[in-house]
Amino acid sequence: MKIVVDTSSLFYGFQFDGNNEYITTDSVIEEVRNRSMKRGIGLRTELMKIFRPSSGEVAEVEKVARLSGDFDQLSTTDIELIALAKGQEAVLLTNDLAIQNVCRRMGINYQSFGGKSIDTEIEWGYRCVGCHRRFNRLYEECPHCGNELKRYPKKRKPITLAKQSQKS
Ligand SMILES: [Zn+2]
Repeated sequence: MKIVVDTSSLFYGFQFDGNNEYITTDSVIEEVRNRSMKRGIGLRTELMKIFRPSSGEVAEVEKVARLSGDFDQLSTTDIELIALAKGQEAVLLTNDLAIQNVCRRMGINYQSFGGKSIDTEIEWGYRCVGCHRRFNRLYEECPHCGNELKRYPKKRKPITLAKQSQKS
């Protein structure tokens, strides 16, 4: 099985095994190097192959993430990882809920490990902290009263767990 590995996976006890092919992006390797140096730990990044997602796939992920309201929760690295999983038809290993939500919408298989994973697909809306008006998209400030907008779950759909990849 081909598995895309994100930065957080590597810091939360994920172990490589010889049966799978592990792939990731340049930016993950860089994040891992910076963070592991700060913490004085060594991580075996050489076990992963580095790929670059295509710009078409990156654009597709951005489009889906904007529609689902996850876009502002995702880093450039996150978006590249989702695009890589899509392009390589790989399973994405991540505990990040926003990444999982976008994967669901794009039909990308993902797995979480030893942590939380979502059992509902969330559609996000935005609510003004001042006048409580609701919006489908994020504005820099409320167009009515100028207060801050906060994200809230607008719609939750249950996820059929059987659809998630359980292959090993
Ligand atoms: Zn307002």
